[in-house]
Amino acid sequence: MDRRAFLGAAAACALSGVESASAASVSMKSCELRGVCDIHLHAAPDSRARSLSEYDMAIEAKKAGYRAVLFKSNDFSCQDRAYLLRQAVPGIELFGSIVLNRATGDRLNAYAVEKALATTGGLCRTVWMPTLDAEYAVKTFKQSSPFISVSDANGNLLPQTIRIMEMCAQADIAFATGHSSAQESLKMAQLAHDIGFKKCIITHPNALIWKMTPSQLEKAASLGAWIEFCYLGRFWGKGSAMPEYPRQTLQETAEFLRIAPERTFISTDLGQRGMPRPVQGMLRARSELLQAGFDDASVRSLLCDVPAYLIGLDKVIPDKTRSAL
Ligand SMILES: [Zn+2]
Repeated sequence: MDRRAFLGAAAACALSGVESASAASVSMKSCELRGVCDIHLHAAPDSRARSLSEYDMAIEAKKAGYRAVLFKSNDFSCQDRAYLLRQAVPGIELFGSIVLNRATGDRLNAYAVEKALATTGGLCRTVWMPTLDAEYAVKTFKQSSPFISVSDANGNLLPQTIRIMEMCAQADIAFATGHSSAQESLKMAQLAHDIGFKKCIITHPNALIWKMTPSQLEKAASLGAWIEFCYLGRFWGKGSAMPEYPRQTLQETAEFLRIAPERTFISTDLGQRGMPRPVQGMLRARSELLQAGFDDASVRSLLCDVPAYLIGLDKVIPDKTRSAL
């Protein structure tokens, strides 16, 4: 282990100590997380145990100065709850999303997408391909449960996948590749490029079986796709509530973010019971990025500007941020 890797590991060890801290104990200068948009996190109510409710998350995020939160449930739509949450917690942009797992049908269900996008308030701002029920994930993890396919036996995208991407393109709603394989995700990025769709997100290619190689990431970026880095990868591992996964070092994190920084953004993907709360995760992400040498403008692009654009809060990404990258 070289010195940088050691320092990364040491910082990671320090992380496990923040797991049970409550929101009240999160110490931060009020400006640190101003403008942050976390567009991938999990909160209750859900079909899995969560560390906090969507209501508590909305309160904590607002207090921390966030601009927006987009909730994700692997089984349920969240855009309907976001409509009510906004009335309970005004002063912060709250959104939901839909994940096309088996709760929406045994195969990809474009009708479910249509209804999610039509829900009062227009707050469904991301459509995710299958995650826990994705064919690639179920087969790779050797699970016996049914799965949902996004491509055929030859690796070509299914007509329903294409249809849903076209619907997202037409509505200007972000589309995320979910737990598809790297090859499938690149096919989706290629299709987005070919039809002029600007909001195709490669879901956490920094994690586990979805990891992409640097050349695959460069390819995705060259096609105009967006690369999501989930900071969860810096928290799980030995000593955490998710010990089975290998923790990424800060060095690995920085190397990943430098491959295509202008096409990359950070979400936390936190909310699992026993793990740090999402605001704590974002606070840690910001301080580690500065520690790793990213300047303020770059951090702002990763945490604020790119995700704000992807969920439709801004029509364009500010130039002053882009030129600093
Ligand atoms: Zn997630």
